[in-house]
Amino acid sequence: MIIYESKLEGTQNQYEKLDAAIRTGRFVRNSIIRAWMDNQIKSRNEAYAYCKTLADHPEFPWAKQLNSQARQAHVERAWASIERFYRNCKAKVPGKKGFPKFRKSQVRDSVEYKVTGWKLSEDRRHLTFTDGFQAGTFKLWGSRNLHFSQLNQIKRVRVVRRHDGYYAQFLIDHKREEKKELTGRQIGLDVGLNHFYTDSFGEKIDNPRFLRKDERRIKKLQRRLSKTQKGSKKRVQARNKLGRAHLKVSRRRNDWVCKLAQRVIRFNDLVAIENLKVRNMIKNHYLAKSISDAAWYRFREWLEYFGVVYGVPVIAVNPSYTSQNCSNCGQKVVKTLSTRTHKCPHCGYIADRDENAAINILKFAFKQSATTVGRTECEVSGEIPLCLVLEAEKSKGTPRKRKPK
Ligand SMILES: [Zn+2]
Repeated sequence: MIIYESKLEGTQNQYEKLDAAIRTGRFVRNSIIRAWMDNQIKSRNEAYAYCKTLADHPEFPWAKQLNSQARQAHVERAWASIERFYRNCKAKVPGKKGFPKFRKSQVRDSVEYKVTGWKLSEDRRHLTFTDGFQAGTFKLWGSRNLHFSQLNQIKRVRVVRRHDGYYAQFLIDHKREEKKELTGRQIGLDVGLNHFYTDSFGEKIDNPRFLRKDERRIKKLQRRLSKTQKGSKKRVQARNKLGRAHLKVSRRRNDWVCKLAQRVIRFNDLVAIENLKVRNMIKNHYLAKSISDAAWYRFREWLEYFGVVYGVPVIAVNPSYTSQNCSNCGQKVVKTLSTRTHKCPHCGYIADRDENAAINILKFAFKQSATTVGRTECEVSGEIPLCLVLEAEKSKGTPRKRKPK
């Protein structure tokens, strides 16, 4: 699956109709969650049926305006989050199990169409929505890639609302495969705060300098937002500015980690990483840390994506003991966070702390791949991983995202 993205250019009136469609998609999703909580539905099929009665209900006339397959797509989204919760319960995941939440109204939101409810113009430069909201025809910016795919390859069209406008994402049925020569190299990666990662050869990749700069900028905008009065026009402006800044940061970060991940995959036959828990990391309020965590997660998504494309196994190992054990003799060598060098009293092995950890990660991965067949299933959410969305962006050459007049 590949995703191409283009910005939608239309009138304010048209955007408001897209807003209505997005709102309705959220309404369908939240209604399904509610019905499930109230024990009214117990299976995916019952959820479809419930959605149908919802659309026929005179109290919610807008529900019928949304294309019927789009309604289904939102039922599927809701059900995917319910299933994820069940799966976590079954797997006895410690801590919170991800009980399905209602989606709140916010700028970043989307509505998803399947193969009906929209039409692409002959020259593929315009997109028309044909469902009950009558949003009309939009000009597409930055969609040159779309010309290379057949219409029947487009499986879904998603309208995404962001702080800087509305975008259409085209989900294209296409399997990317690339040839790669064997390099005879296997690599383990250890993430840290001081460096983006240290590999098992001892090489360190530093955090890009723009991360710091972006961090300062976001802090400034956050302060500015907190100084404004609730409900004021200034506050709306400040929030929008902050939202745009976040968007810019995440695009830049994504571009950087994407290139890095592709390089790692192309030069190695096996990549071992730590299986860090998203939950623990995202929760921290220390901004620099959360920015580098986000970068790391995106990096991991890209590694897994390119791993499939180039046929390179990416193995995630349990992160415990990777830094404490000696990678040479396996004995435990306790050290505090400030100890930067690993010195083993048992075998005399001396190495950089992170390099030692990276070697351990690689060794654990060998052990793990010997006992389990094939790749372990990573998170299957029913939604397409975000990293794929942005692949199209990085492949864009000339600046085409001109601002509409
Ligand atoms: Zn040792």
